[in-house]
Amino acid sequence: MPAAHALAIAGERVAGGVGTHETALPSPERVDLGGRCVLPGFSDAHVHFPTWSLAQREIRLENTHSLEEAVSLVAEATGSVPEGRWLRGRGWRSGDWSPAVEPTRQALDEVTGDTPTALMARDYHSLWLNSAALARADGDLQVQGGVVELDERGEPTGVLREEAAWRFRDRHLLASDDEFVDAMRDGVKLAVSRGVTAVHDKDGWLGAPRLWQRLVDEDALQLRVWQSLPHEHVGRLEELGLSSGLGDGLLRLGYLKVFMDGTLGSETARLMDGSGVQITGREELAEIIRHGARVGWPVAVHAIGDLANREALDAFEETRGEWAPRGLRQRIEHAQLLTEEDVPRFGVLGVAASVQFSHAPSDRDIADRIWAGNTDRAYAYRSLADSGALVANGSDAPIEELDPLAGICAGVLRTLDEREAWHPEQSVGVEQALEATIVAPAWLARDERQRGKLIPGFLADLVVLDRDPVAIPPEELPDVRVVATMLGGRWAHNAPPWD
Ligand SMILES: [Zn+2]
Repeated sequence: MPAAHALAIAGERVAGGVGTHETALPSPERVDLGGRCVLPGFSDAHVHFPTWSLAQREIRLENTHSLEEAVSLVAEATGSVPEGRWLRGRGWRSGDWSPAVEPTRQALDEVTGDTPTALMARDYHSLWLNSAALARADGDLQVQGGVVELDERGEPTGVLREEAAWRFRDRHLLASDDEFVDAMRDGVKLAVSRGVTAVHDKDGWLGAPRLWQRLVDEDALQLRVWQSLPHEHVGRLEELGLSSGLGDGLLRLGYLKVFMDGTLGSETARLMDGSGVQITGREELAEIIRHGARVGWPVAVHAIGDLANREALDAFEETRGEWAPRGLRQRIEHAQLLTEEDVPRFGVLGVAASVQFSHAPSDRDIADRIWAGNTDRAYAYRSLADSGALVANGSDAPIEELDPLAGICAGVLRTLDEREAWHPEQSVGVEQALEATIVAPAWLARDERQRGKLIPGFLADLVVLDRDPVAIPPEELPDVRVVATMLGGRWAHNAPPWD
């Protein structure tokens, strides 16, 4: 990555580097960086933006170490819920609790009474409800691909998983558009303050496009959005004649989202040993990819377990003749557990690995337990990058925080605390981490000729950092701070002068 000493910007684009054009501009406004470092703006290649924005306002259970601690946080919040409203929270993970127990509705009922309470697990694949919440479903909880946990008397325990959790959420828990837009306004500001200039959103299922449009209308959208839509809509997109890329410089419809399996934390990832939950099978995915290709849509497939990844790769391989000539940017989301044979297939097939560097250190304890003996092939980001795969980094916010610098640290250091790096052989280099956070996501969004680099003609989307992350020792990475962010030649966060 070559460095330049100066950068000229004209309008929304980069005009040149190293003193080429800046004196030719009629009234050049100069910013002295004072030794700071400018990089192309960060992308987050996997974020549930409306959900993350709303999550900033809910009870957060991420750091609870026992069921009691989680219940006491709920108890504290109960009083502030207006009559008839839901008490919402998220972030619990029973694997983090000791003693090891699964949550129950009875544990909540004691502190919530009649206030309907819904607490989404950290990985969004399990939902913990109290009795008042369960009553809203009137016994209609079971659904294909879903799990309703039952106690020894055959009564629901209050925990729903996979499709059962999601259908309950969709029917009973969705926030209003006004609530979302309000939260997203703040969310955009927070993301931009962390150097983000683009996101690949995954909340197409909840109608994210219309929420983004409201932000555009009020001139509050200060980052670029590459939007998912649920694959179930592909027939309608075909009827309407809509293909990927529709939109403008800020907001575009990008790709179809599909789920192959569950997650590590819910023990629903689909593994070679036959365990886990299948949401979509190989043949079904191949059909979805074919249909998408005919209509002009790439597919982003959630696959966590090694069997889910194997089948997703098989489906892309089998259909390659139909999508590759159309230049579609296919991707597997997460790719958390891979067999050794499957690692090189990403690069060979030209399917991107859309991963989350932060997941490795944050999942390490659970992975060591649930995937014991196999963690040498889990979160294998270095192997993927070295095998020639296009590796894109995201946060999966709100599962991890939407914070690209934190993701870069996690990818390079593979630890979040004072412990040694977890599987340090899978650490990526700083430049690899930056590439995955800057260049690769731009390619996935078909913007490789105008974003991800600061060269003449490219968009002036950039972040100012207080120091050069490539020039410092890796241990210093956690100290790097975002100073300012520019989108299309306009300061979006903290315009100079800085002191
Ligand atoms: Zn996600």
